[in-house]
Amino acid sequence: MINHTSRHNLDVKAPPRTNSRDGFLSSEVTNKHVIAEESDDGFWRDLEGKALHVSASDLERHAYCPLSWSLAREGKTGRGEAITAGRQKHAEIHSKVKSFKEKQNELKKALIIWSWWFTIVIIFISDAIIFTNISDSRTPLDIARYLTILALIWLGLGLFAIYLPWRKWLGISSSYSDDFDEISNLNTEVISPTFEPFGFIGGWGQGGRVEAGLLMGATIFGLHAIGLTWASDKQQAGFILVTVAMVWTLLASWQLQRALLADSALEIARIDAGVENDMDVAYSDDEATAGLLIDEQTGLRGRPDQIVIVEGEFIPVEQKTGKIPEKPHKSHKMQLLAYLHLVESTTNRKPPYGVLRYGSENLHTIDWDDESKHILFSAVKEVQRLMTEGGAERNHNRKGKCQSCSRRYACDSSLV
Ligand code: SF4
Repeated sequence: MINHTSRHNLDVKAPPRTNSRDGFLSSEVTNKHVIAEESDDGFWRDLEGKALHVSASDLERHAYCPLSWSLAREGKTGRGEAITAGRQKHAEIHSKVKSFKEKQNELKKALIIWSWWFTIVIIFISDAIIFTNISDSRTPLDIARYLTILALIWLGLGLFAIYLPWRKWLGISSSYSDDFDEISNLNTEVISPTFEPFGFIGGWGQGGRVEAGLLMGATIFGLHAIGLTWASDKQQAGFILVTVAMVWTLLASWQLQRALLADSALEIARIDAGVENDMDVAYSDDEATAGLLIDEQTGLRGRPDQIVIVEGEFIPVEQKTGKIPEKPHKSHKMQLLAYLHLVESTTNRKPPYGVLRYGSENLHTIDWDDESKHILFSAVKEVQRLMTEGGAERNHNRKGKCQSCSRRYACDSSLV
């Protein structure tokens, strides 16, 4: 169920590992005020002109209660069963998403191999028809000799292509898109690609699609040559080629069965991971391989739980565990707005919305528009001001909030 609620630059780099999901370096976890001043655009920058770092988690905590954010900054970690359960749940979700991507890759591989094998069947049948109908003075043995030479040439080329770094010599760079690399951690670090590693440019003893094509060609020519060597006339040659085609059809059927099984496994993994039919997943936060998204202009940074691709758009998804609220919490929305901005600044494409997900069924879309951006930037500036000037205070009188607060144990202003 997706609820559409009212409304209210992403550099994925490999930073040093940090002690929090959104990349808060331990040296930054301090109560000392930062020396910085407000710039003309309203963001606070240090003496070197760099915007103060504010993570999406900072914004979530600050929106919940500025004191909670301040305590976190002092190094008071959240405590409670909900936090531990939440971490476990997140790890579980990432594992399911990873499994979905693996199954997706297996299906892709199985379909590509099946299409190759099916092509071979078509080639053999076409050859059989040509052989039995053309009038040519050459015997099958003559043609077998030509095909043997051709097979050896292709085999030689294939082996040379594998063992020599010809792509580097020719100055061929990776065909893999850098833009996609920036946003996708699943395809680059978790899931192995179908045939060529991402960013593959070959090298000594390495093969890719070109090499596979050359070896495939050598195999087809070789099989033709063997078949024709046994044939005493063209009719017999045609019969042998049809026989080979039938054997290959059996192999292709077996491969098709594998593809169908892979498709069923993918469907189960998709449902298990909660991925919609028309969605693909580009990024999933596992705190190990997920890159930190950074916007230097505002100082924002963070790691969304997932970035999915819907109708060609990158959509950040924030998964929340625990009790399902009637409507999304303000703090959760603020966190998602940060991810929306990070996705836009990294891809230079504006996502129309982001998704807040509570449990597996309760989904809310949050619009990403000028008003949302204004709300986000105001919050970032306020957090940066507090980092510089201090003075964070409780901003509510709700006992329930303090009751649920994971830093209540360290708070002097708690209402309970
Ligand atoms: S206990 Fe209450 S006042 Fe203290 S940080 Fe938590 S929510 Fe804020």
